[in-house]
Amino acid sequence: MLPPGRTIGILGGGQLGRMMAVAAAQLGYRCHIYSPEEHSVAAEVSEDATCAGWYDARELARFARGCDVITWEFENVPVAPLAPIAAKLAPHPRALEVAQDRLSEKRFVENLGGRPAPFAEVDSEEDLQAAFERIGLPGILKTRREGYDGKGQWRFESERDAEGLTLHQGGFIYEGLVHFDGEFSVILVRGADGEVRFWDSAQNVHHGGILATSSLPAAGFVAAQVPEARLLAAKVAEQLGYVGVLALEFFATKDGPVFNEMAPRVHNSGHWTIEGAETSQFENHVRAVLGLPLGDTATIGREVVMTNLIGAAGSDAAAILADPSAHLHLYGKAEAREGRKMGHVTKVFR
Ligand code: AMP
Repeated sequence: MLPPGRTIGILGGGQLGRMMAVAAAQLGYRCHIYSPEEHSVAAEVSEDATCAGWYDARELARFARGCDVITWEFENVPVAPLAPIAAKLAPHPRALEVAQDRLSEKRFVENLGGRPAPFAEVDSEEDLQAAFERIGLPGILKTRREGYDGKGQWRFESERDAEGLTLHQGGFIYEGLVHFDGEFSVILVRGADGEVRFWDSAQNVHHGGILATSSLPAAGFVAAQVPEARLLAAKVAEQLGYVGVLALEFFATKDGPVFNEMAPRVHNSGHWTIEGAETSQFENHVRAVLGLPLGDTATIGREVVMTNLIGAAGSDAAAILADPSAHLHLYGKAEAREGRKMGHVTKVFR
C-alpha cells in the first residue's frame, strides 16, 4: 500500500485520466500524465505532465522514475515500449495486449466460455466474401485495432456494399449483426488481493456507435442477463491477474448475453458512479492500483441517468445547470468537433 503524497503515473491524457486524477487528488495522491498530445485535459488537473511519444524510451524511463505506480486511461498505448517500466504498471499490460486486438479479445473470451457475435478474421477481399457466406449479412466489418466510438467500422446490408473496397493483411474482423433487445456493461474492480466488486449494470444506448446514455436500473430483461455476464467478466479479470477497473460490454439477446468488447480501464458507461454510487469507478481504480482497500460499489438512489455531451451539446452550461439535479462534467476540450465527447451530465433520482 502506497501512502498519500506518492505519485501515480497515468498513460494517456484524456477525460478518463482527468477524472482519475481528480479522484486521486481527493485521496491525497499526485498524478503525472504521460501523453503525446500537447494540450491534454488530464494534465490540466494534475501535478505534472510529460508530453512525449509512446516510443520515446528516454522520456518514458524518466517519467517512470518519478512515479510510484503507473496505470493507463487509454487502451491503445503500445505495449512493447512498456517492457522496461513493467514492474510499476497496474494492471498488467497483458490486458492491453488482449483488448487492443478485436480478434484476440474475442478468442480470449470464447476460451473462457463467453459468446461473442459470430466473427471471422478478414485479411483480403476473398476473406470477406467467405465471411459473407459463412456468417451471412447484414454484418459489420471492423478494424482489429484502434477503432473506437464507431470509427473504423462499416456496415454491410448486401454484398454490393463491399464493392470497390480494398483490404489489407492483418487488419479486419467481420461480425454478424446481433439482434439485441438492449445493451449493457459489466464494470468491476479487482483489488491487488483478488477481491472483486461489481457496480450495478447500466443499460447503454449508442447512437452511431457512440455511447449516448447509461441508465440504471436496467430493464428487467437486461438485468436478468447480468449474473451470467458477471461470471464471464470475473473469469476475464482472474485470468489476466487484473488489478483495477475492467469493463465488458454486452448485447442482451433472446438467447442470453452476447459479448461485444472489453475495456481494460475505467469506462464511459461507468461515469454515473461519480454521483450515483458510494464509490466511483475512478476512485476504486486508484485504490486498487495503490493496494488500498476497495470502496463500496452500491448504487445511490433508485434511478441514475448519465447523458454524454457530444459535439456542441455541452456548449450551454448555464442551460444544463438550470436543472438543479444535473451534475455537469465538462472535460475542458477546446474544440467541439462532431462526435467528440465534450462532457457528461448525471442525474440521480432518490
Ligand atoms: P463497438 O465499437 O464494437 O463497441 O461498437 C459500437 C456499437 O455499435 C455497439 O455498442 C453496438 O451498438 C453497435 N454494434 C457493434 N457491433 C455490433 C454487432 N455485431 N451487432 C449489432 N450491433 C453492433
